[in-house]
Amino acid sequence: MKDKAVYLDAQASTPIAPEALAALTERLAAPGNPHSPHVAGAQAYEAIARARATLADLIGASPAEIIFTSGATEANNMAILGFARAAAVASTRRTIVTSAIEHPSVLETVSALRSEGFVHRIAPVGGDGRVDLAALAKLIDADTLLVCVMAANNVVGVIQPVAEVAALARAAGALVHCDAAQAGGRIALDVFDLDVDSLSLSAHKMYGPPGVGALYLSAAAPLRPAPITFGGGQEHGLRPGTAPAALIASFGAAAGLVRAHRQADAGHAEGLAARFVSTLKDLQVRFSQNGSDLHRVPGALSIAVANMDAQELSERISTEVAISTGSACSSGQMTVSPVLVAMGIDGAVARSSVRLCFHRYSTEAEADRAALAFARAVREAALAPGSFVQ
Ligand code: PMP
Repeated sequence: MKDKAVYLDAQASTPIAPEALAALTERLAAPGNPHSPHVAGAQAYEAIARARATLADLIGASPAEIIFTSGATEANNMAILGFARAAAVASTRRTIVTSAIEHPSVLETVSALRSEGFVHRIAPVGGDGRVDLAALAKLIDADTLLVCVMAANNVVGVIQPVAEVAALARAAGALVHCDAAQAGGRIALDVFDLDVDSLSLSAHKMYGPPGVGALYLSAAAPLRPAPITFGGGQEHGLRPGTAPAALIASFGAAAGLVRAHRQADAGHAEGLAARFVSTLKDLQVRFSQNGSDLHRVPGALSIAVANMDAQELSERISTEVAISTGSACSSGQMTVSPVLVAMGIDGAVARSSVRLCFHRYSTEAEADRAALAFARAVREAALAPGSFVQ
């Protein structure tokens, strides 16, 4: 039987840590609604409390500042819609500023607020994939309610200057929200140092299960988000509904591992990325890297393989290596990633760009196998007439 494909799509989802899987199944097997007043309920509640403390510890928050959600999408909606709706009655500020490369769960949410009288201003990024601080500063004024900047980008893996953005926002009296879905499992995050009012995390990007995430909400935030869903008042009234104790316990186990292994994970993933890149060069594959090499999530790569269509590359290697492209085919039309477009990357380069990310469980043999698969695909494509991009 053929080996399993090498999994390098860790920005989409990381593999689940065995310890997080064990915590998930153990808690799933136990009965108990965490909100019930009996022993089974109390045990589920305790499991959630432990996870909350671990998550808080990971980002330098206190447990009461953690709200469990279904993922980063919900956490981003909860913060952005929540702050806007609270401001609609408590403030005259109506402008929300975001970077151009935010995830759709931020951009679409802010865009939806236009119908509620809010203005969306978009700050450009440089060719290195980092938000342009001078341009951002010009967009922030006395009407700015909220500034949203992600901690790390999901397409190019570039780490953003969140603390610098927060300083600009603070100077104008604005709130700061940070989508840290791609950063939580990979780089050190301290909400005090970053000086953010809210921050989103997602378990399936940090070796935990899909379907659970968290919103950090600073106790010191000058505004409390209005709830966007209504019900039984759980999670400080912001996320009503029965908390999924098993998913949360598993998220907590994953967060504890991130805390313990972050440095080792970073060195490991980055070492494999460097090995992959140098093997590609040895194999005479011509490629360029997108985005800052200096401010990159460890292990993440966005590379454009010369004269190779990204979709074709990913299809040619799909049985051997799982990666993702910087483009997508929607309704029969090829569209390149808006992130690459915002970075000013040439269309042909963007259409040749793939994203991959080495992770805690990647091996040297896998890095080599992936590079060999790339080289073979490039060679085969070169022999197949009509497959070059212009
Ligand atoms: N923000 C970023 C930067 C992401 O990469 C993702 C996942 N692709 C999300 C938000 C959404 O996360 P979730 O799947 O947990 O809703």
